[in-house]
Amino acid sequence: MTKAFKIRPRIKLSCIFVVLLLISVGCIGLLSIRYIEELVAMGKCPLPPNEKLKPGDHIDNSLDLWSRADVQTCTYWNAPILWDGMFDTKVYDTYHKEKGTSVALTVFAVGRYLETYLLDFLTSAEKHFMTGLPVTYYIFTDTPEWVPTINLAPGRTMEVIQVERQSRWQDISMSRMKTITDVIESRIRHHHQYVFCFDVDQIFVGRFGSEVLGDSVALLHAFYYRRRQKDYSYDRNPKSEAYMETGDFYYHAAIFGGTWQGVKNITENCYQGIAKDKENQVEALWHDESHLNKYFWLHKPSKILSPEYCWSTLIGYRWDIHVHRLLWAEKHYEILRTELKGTNK
Ligand code: UDP
Ligand code: MN
Repeated sequence: MTKAFKIRPRIKLSCIFVVLLLISVGCIGLLSIRYIEELVAMGKCPLPPNEKLKPGDHIDNSLDLWSRADVQTCTYWNAPILWDGMFDTKVYDTYHKEKGTSVALTVFAVGRYLETYLLDFLTSAEKHFMTGLPVTYYIFTDTPEWVPTINLAPGRTMEVIQVERQSRWQDISMSRMKTITDVIESRIRHHHQYVFCFDVDQIFVGRFGSEVLGDSVALLHAFYYRRRQKDYSYDRNPKSEAYMETGDFYYHAAIFGGTWQGVKNITENCYQGIAKDKENQVEALWHDESHLNKYFWLHKPSKILSPEYCWSTLIGYRWDIHVHRLLWAEKHYEILRTELKGTNK
C-alpha cells in the first residue's frame, strides 16, 4: 500500500515527461518541414544570393530573396513575394523617377463609405503612397459633392467620377470591376503606366512605394497567409465561374494592381465571370474576391505583396510581420451597408 503510493507519482511524472517529449519532437518536426518547404520554394527562384543588378536587368532582380529566411519570398512560377528587408527603396524610386513612371489609384466610396473612410484614406495616402511619383486618385462615388478637399503634393491630382449607387452592397463591390475596366480604357491608359485598386476602408501607415509596381500584382490575405490550402475560402460552388478546387494562395481583393494592361485583363475577366454568374443566377461566395482568386489561379500574378502591405491589427502580433504599411480600418457593416446619409434608403 505504502509502496504503491510512492510509485504512482513517479509513473505520473514519467508519463508527463514522455508526453512533453513527444509534443516537442512533433513541433520540431513540423517546423522543419515548413522550413524545408520554404527553402525548396526559394531554391526555385532565379537569383542566387548576393548577385548584383547589372545594367539592363529587370529591376526586380535587385530584390534580395535571401534576406528573409523566415518566410517564402518567391513562388514556384518565379514571382517574388515582397517582404520588408528584401528591397532597396532608393533603387526602386530612382529607377521609376528616371523612367517617368506615373501611377493611378482607384478607390470607391459609395454611400456611407465616403463620410466614414475617404478622408483618412486620402490623407494617409498622401503621406505614404508612391511619394515622390506623380499619382492621380480616381475616386468613384455617388455623391461627388461630399468628396473632401485635401492638399495634394506637386504632381499629384484627383479626379472624381460619379457612379450609380447599387442597392445591394455586394453589387457595389462587384461593379467595381466593370467601372475600372471602362476608366482604364477611357482615361488611365493615356496618362499612367500603372494602376492600383484599393478598398477605401483602410489607412496607410508606412511606405507603400514603387517596389510594388509590376505587371500583375496580388496581395496575400492577412487572415489566410499562414493557413493551409484546404482552409482557403475559395468559391466551392461548381455553378459559379469563380469555382476553384485548388489554388496557390488566398488573395485579398482589397488591393490589386499592375500595368494598365495587366489590370485591365484582371478587371475585364472578373467582370465577365460576375456577369455570367448573374445570367446563371449564382453569386460567388466572396463576390469580386472569389473571381479575383480564380483569375490569379489561371493567370499567375508577376508579383505578390506580403500581408505587411495590408494588415489587420485584430490578428495580433506575428513574428514575420516586420512592418505595417496599410491597416484595415474598423468595420461598421451594420451602419455602412444599410443607410445612405440623409435618407432612409
Ligand atoms: N464599397 C462602397 N460602398 C458600399 C460597399 C462597398 O464604397 O456600400 C466599396 C468600398 O471601397 C469598400 C469596397 O467597396 O472598401 C469593398 O467593400 P468592403 O470594404 O465592405 O468589403 P470587405 O472589406 O468587407 O471585403
Ligand atoms: Mn474592405
